[in-house]
Amino acid sequence: MFDLLAESTPFYLGFVFVFSLLVGSFLNVVIYRLPIMMKNNWQDEIDAHTSKETTHNTRERFDLIKPDSSCPKCGHKIKIWENIPVISWLFLGAKCSNCKSPISIRYPFVELLTALLSVWVASVLGFNLIAFGFIFCTWLLVAMTFIDLDEMFLPDVLTLSMLWIGLLVAAHSPSMNTAYAIIGGALGYLSLFSVYWIFKLLTGKEGMGYGDFKLLAAIGVWVGWQHLPIVILLSSLVGAIIGISLMFKKNESTSMAIPFGPYLAIAGFITMLYGSEIANWYLSTL
Ligand SMILES: [Zn+2]
Repeated sequence: MFDLLAESTPFYLGFVFVFSLLVGSFLNVVIYRLPIMMKNNWQDEIDAHTSKETTHNTRERFDLIKPDSSCPKCGHKIKIWENIPVISWLFLGAKCSNCKSPISIRYPFVELLTALLSVWVASVLGFNLIAFGFIFCTWLLVAMTFIDLDEMFLPDVLTLSMLWIGLLVAAHSPSMNTAYAIIGGALGYLSLFSVYWIFKLLTGKEGMGYGDFKLLAAIGVWVGWQHLPIVILLSSLVGAIIGISLMFKKNESTSMAIPFGPYLAIAGFITMLYGSEIANWYLSTL
């Protein structure tokens, strides 16, 4: 199996596609449940500090495994054949098999997006440790993007996993430089941290959160400190494009708060794959 993956590119890409579809299905669970689990924990901590009666013991088990997935409208338990990525959604006609209430297109979208991005990474980087690491980061970035869009925060367990795994891979992969990775992590964190405090002292407003610093630190580990300016420029560019297109789409005068995490995630993904090409192109045009 391992030899076949290493030798046959179509087989490798096909395997990554199917496996990442299944991962995408799990990411839908993570995106929905992780914020609820975190809020439950926060409530428990508040209860513990205020020595109020806790709801912890009466609450039913809720994590990434239990309870089984069910229709939010009627409580119908999702059967295995209704849980096949993308295919089940199409066969069910985007409706619950029991109560016929609509199932959001976001579920198959996240699954397909995860699979396509992973195949993209695999086709660019080939079959090696860095490619596996980048594919894993891609999964984390997809989860972070949608959680940030929904909740306006980035869970530590995702940002810091990406950071620590990046340092481990950097220490073991000949094509990554450990020192560049460590400096990339530190500068990634400190650059946004400084921007945040300067902006806050000058305007009294908070433009981003600590989750963004940790995400840029994690990206800095993977791309190395030399490519951090590319990540920052690209994320501003992506932010400007999305911001302007949203302005034209919705004619709302009120400034809608848009989280910064998705821009960082998109910019980080592109720089992880094409950082050197972008740097060379930029230097050659100077
Ligand atoms: Zn239902």
